[in-house]
Amino acid sequence: MSDSGVAEIIDAETSIRIITAMAEAVTRQQAYLSGLDSTVGDGDHGVNLAKALQEAARRVQPLANAAPDIVWRTTGKVIQESVGGASGLLFGAFFVGGSRTIKDRDTLTTADVAAMMGAGLENIQKRGKAQPGDKTMVDALAPAAAAAAAAVEADLSLVEALDQMAFAAQTGADATREMVARHGRAKFLGERSRGYQDAGATSIAVMLAAWAEAMRESK
Ligand code: ADP
Ligand code: MG
Repeated sequence: MSDSGVAEIIDAETSIRIITAMAEAVTRQQAYLSGLDSTVGDGDHGVNLAKALQEAARRVQPLANAAPDIVWRTTGKVIQESVGGASGLLFGAFFVGGSRTIKDRDTLTTADVAAMMGAGLENIQKRGKAQPGDKTMVDALAPAAAAAAAAVEADLSLVEALDQMAFAAQTGADATREMVARHGRAKFLGERSRGYQDAGATSIAVMLAAWAEAMRESK
């Protein structure tokens, strides 16, 4: 850890802080996120995800002395249990899939985060079958995973990597506005889903921004 209060590694305690920050950010934005879902879906997205992340944050609090993968895996399992419907399974699959790549790690580096992003994305696509351009959370996650891989190549610090990932996710979420939905409830709108930003992609952007912010606040 540096004097500036910026985390250079992610251990279990930092992981808990990140999950907590994600829960707080999605809770703050829950009305906005549900609003995005209400134009093309059933309007439950932000509220459900906020509830699930709050429960996950509660359940990981006692895990400060565990390995980081336990914190991330528990988060995924709790989300899968607490959000009914497809998207909970998919958000959960991201954390569970990612946690498998860090099983033997006490602390996570930029390369570990990049591996988690890649494996998390892969697990979502394995289950949900969405491709980039289908107007789903994949449209925020795929550019974020690519930014993480590029950050490893460029030898960036964790804070720099997270900033790039959060920016890529937000840009990806913004771009869903021009897309036509091919999955979830929004697909029934077909062409009429164009013009609305995808709720799930926006949540990913909110969560990664919270993660980036939490890295700065780590002591
Ligand atoms: P539900 O559709 O069950 O009400 P939510 O409202 O919580 O679920 O989540 C909707 C979000 O789920 C969409 O905005 C989209 O990002 C994401 N989504 C839906 N289907 C898929 C899929 N097959 N793959 C990836 N993401 C998906
Ligand atoms: Mg919904």
